[in-house]
Amino acid sequence: MALYTTDLLILGSGPAGYTAGIYAARAGISVTIVSGNQEGGQLTMTSAIENFPGFEEISGFELMDKMKNQAVKLGVQFVNDYIVEVDFAHRPFVCSSENGHSYKAKAVIIATGSSAKWLNLESEKKFLGYGVSACATCDGFFYRGRTVVVVGGGNSAVAEALYLATLADRVILVHRRHQLRADKILQDRVKENRKIVVEWDSVVEEILGVDEPKKVTGIRVRNVETDATKVINADGVFVAVGHQPNTEIFKGNLVLDSKGYIVTHANCSATDVEGVFAAGDVKDPKYKQAVISAGSGAIAAMDAIEYLDSVA
Ligand code: NAP
Repeated sequence: MALYTTDLLILGSGPAGYTAGIYAARAGISVTIVSGNQEGGQLTMTSAIENFPGFEEISGFELMDKMKNQAVKLGVQFVNDYIVEVDFAHRPFVCSSENGHSYKAKAVIIATGSSAKWLNLESEKKFLGYGVSACATCDGFFYRGRTVVVVGGGNSAVAEALYLATLADRVILVHRRHQLRADKILQDRVKENRKIVVEWDSVVEEILGVDEPKKVTGIRVRNVETDATKVINADGVFVAVGHQPNTEIFKGNLVLDSKGYIVTHANCSATDVEGVFAAGDVKDPKYKQAVISAGSGAIAAMDAIEYLDSVA
């Protein structure tokens, strides 16, 4: 059980957390980043990023690795750990981890991001890891030459469908409406991809499978226009229906909105607790782009630097 003492503690190691670390370290502040349970955050599950300026195409893993190296090179202390409790009522702030470590800091930037949402079906839980996944980059490899379903109509679902089409023989994109939410460029690629078919206006009622050996065999969908149901045979189901902010531990400590996002003051990263700032997807219900998270991290660092100067 260790006690870490730092000027600025950053929770989360996605683009917001690393960018905040890079900016704060360059200002001569002692900075500690606690990784969270997925080092590098959600982007590490993205196979190809082509809209982060400066990189025509880069894998999410490589981009995050570069950000980490840059932060560490500038003097950021990086700890692989997961915070389970925060005390923002006293100063210095104290955050406690699942490993029993304590982190004392004069200022905190929360950049804990968001996590994939699920359909909340019993059968989804049952076959999780046995054909049900939320990460095509992680699990797509197992579906070479097979048929897979992707559920959702946003950028994540479409990006996953396009990626899976490079491996699987057939990809069925199941969307609950008649229009995708994804960027037009991605929609066009879906239309042009002969391996991908879209099952419009359809909700997944059940994920079907067998027990011995445990595996997915398909899904039952219901058409919301006609109410007709049908079975679609498939070997894997990838769920990509959006994200929710990772703010469970901040309930009761900070003001959150109705969907659980951290509320910050207008045009800055300050939360309702002086000295605690928020950056990236954890406070952003709308834009959720890597480049925006990075910018948001820079803003939070600048706010934290100003705050630390004011209390020095
Ligand atoms: P999203 O944009 O919120 O899309 C979620 C999709 O899932 C929507 O199509 C939604 O349907 C559907 N959905 C939600 N709940 C559902 C349910 N219970 N059952 C069935 N379908 C459900 O989320 P996202 O695709 O994860 O993207 C999150 C953010 O990351 C977005 O801002 C996105 O632009 C960004 N992103 C960007 C890229 C990129 O390459 N630029 C890649 C991935 C993600 P409705 O359309 O009917 O609401």
